[in-house]
Amino acid sequence: MPQLDTFRPVPGTLPTRDAIPSRYTWDLTAICRDWDDWTRAYRDLESEIESFATLQGTLAQGVDGLLAAFRAMDVMGALSYRIWYFASLHYDQDQRDNAINAKRQQVQILFARQQQTGSWFNPELLAIPFDTVRDWLDASADLAVYRFAIESLFHEQEHVLDEQGERLMSFAGRFNSVPHDSYAALTTADVKCPSITLSGGEQVTLSYGQYRVLLETNRRQEDRAAAYRAFHRSYADNQNTYAALYNGVLQRDWFHARARGYETTLDAALHGNNIPISVVENLIAGAKQAVEPLRRYHRLRRRALGVETYRLFDVSLPLVEHDARYPYDQVGDWIVDSVAPLGDEYQQQVRRAFDEGWIDVYENVGKRSGAYSAPVYGAHPYMLLNYNETLDAVFTLAHEMGHSMHTLLAHQAQPFVYAGYTIFVAEVPSTLSEALFLDLMLERARSREERIVLLQHAIDSIASTFYTQVLFADFELQAHRLVEQDQPVTADVLNATYAALLREYYGEVLDEEEVSCVTWARIPHFFSTPYYVYQYATCFASTARLMQGVRAPESGTRAESVRRYLSLLGAGGSDYPMNLLAQAGVDLSRPDTVRAVSTEFEALVVRLESELGR
Ligand SMILES: [Zn+2]
Repeated sequence: MPQLDTFRPVPGTLPTRDAIPSRYTWDLTAICRDWDDWTRAYRDLESEIESFATLQGTLAQGVDGLLAAFRAMDVMGALSYRIWYFASLHYDQDQRDNAINAKRQQVQILFARQQQTGSWFNPELLAIPFDTVRDWLDASADLAVYRFAIESLFHEQEHVLDEQGERLMSFAGRFNSVPHDSYAALTTADVKCPSITLSGGEQVTLSYGQYRVLLETNRRQEDRAAAYRAFHRSYADNQNTYAALYNGVLQRDWFHARARGYETTLDAALHGNNIPISVVENLIAGAKQAVEPLRRYHRLRRRALGVETYRLFDVSLPLVEHDARYPYDQVGDWIVDSVAPLGDEYQQQVRRAFDEGWIDVYENVGKRSGAYSAPVYGAHPYMLLNYNETLDAVFTLAHEMGHSMHTLLAHQAQPFVYAGYTIFVAEVPSTLSEALFLDLMLERARSREERIVLLQHAIDSIASTFYTQVLFADFELQAHRLVEQDQPVTADVLNATYAALLREYYGEVLDEEEVSCVTWARIPHFFSTPYYVYQYATCFASTARLMQGVRAPESGTRAESVRRYLSLLGAGGSDYPMNLLAQAGVDLSRPDTVRAVSTEFEALVVRLESELGR
């Protein structure tokens, strides 16, 4: 449908914001009408913070005192969303704007003050015997709304030490970031990017970005090999330093676990979200049993690329050349169509996102890069994109739309205190939204090349968000167990562990490449956030399991699966993630949940084989 204010970016140019028609920019007036309105909200929060301080000392008095404090926190929380996002979304649309940046910082300063003046709350609540609090919860329906919030606070408390212990831990806390800070310095501040000469005589400096582009676009294997070897050489040259830094991470985690009375580092990492360790163990065991489809994919790639040898620098190259453009005006309808399996109501909400100014579409001078969905309580979700008409951009839009619908349904169904959700479930709706979109795109693909590109996109994203992340989780679990069992941690040991994992996953499909065994040193998550990456894989497994229900041939099963999925979204953060997922029919401690991923992966590989005629 042609419209007067249609706009498409001209490749290679960067428009100013005022050159973009308003229907491609978000409308922030749903958060605050204007800056005066924002200032009023800011002052309201200031006075709420002051009056919250006067509640100190009242919690132990009974139901009324505790309820008043929780309700005051809800009011402050809702105001915080509005004043933070109004300033920060404005800032992200043009980060050169100093006046808005100042307002954004003003909010951060207020938040710091809020945290300081409210820091009495948790210790005062936790000082009340839990049995007393439980009696209050049973006696008051109003207070019972906060039951899960209160119970999880007491649950966290189980491993808090006495005052002297906590004091010691806080002193030790100053060393916590040293291994990661040193790692960051070594890999960014102090790094010298290697330079190589390509087969055509061209000189390239290999920043990480350049290196990725080369592996994804350069059709000459000798160039990819040269880039891969040069890039990893700097890690190999410093492998003893990397091993010493990683040992620092492992020793620190083991110190914390033991000091707080956990049996293992994994127990310590999973306690907060109440995840049983069997989830991680089952994930790792399940993935290892399901590596055959992964190997089948790489055997297919090896044949399709027609290469004699096949190594890690050959795994990211596209199998066909295909440069389709996806204009935004067209894609909006496709996204709406793709969620039809989730029902009319869901579809209408997605339509609203496009029609009611929830999305900031195109790149402009000064705009923040990347993409996100902002969960603005009291308004609606907002999405920032830098839409450039590529296939990746379309899937990013589908992804962020999944996050946004999660926010919308949770905010509609939950009281403020449970409106947010944890990382452990967050990537389920985003990946499910992508999966539905892939189904639609495959159905509508106009050429064999397009189908191949779509299938490869889907397969690669499972390979990188599932198989690779489980391999990583496996590595960090094995490494942590070395220190838990008083074993030495050296570069040789870590390299051997990593090399063994590569063999377990890829088998004979990958040819040996000496430098690959130091790849662990290149993964920042190992140094910054241990035991984090497994969550990408569990989210992906949950999505695969849920999609089996959403795609089920029998309409009753389908309807029931959709109903349970939508109630998962509406549940927000009202329970521990394992319980929420269980209610939606996903049990991550069961092997068949993990198998759902490999089943889906294999089906995609079979389709790709037939498209390629191999
Ligand atoms: Zn996401």
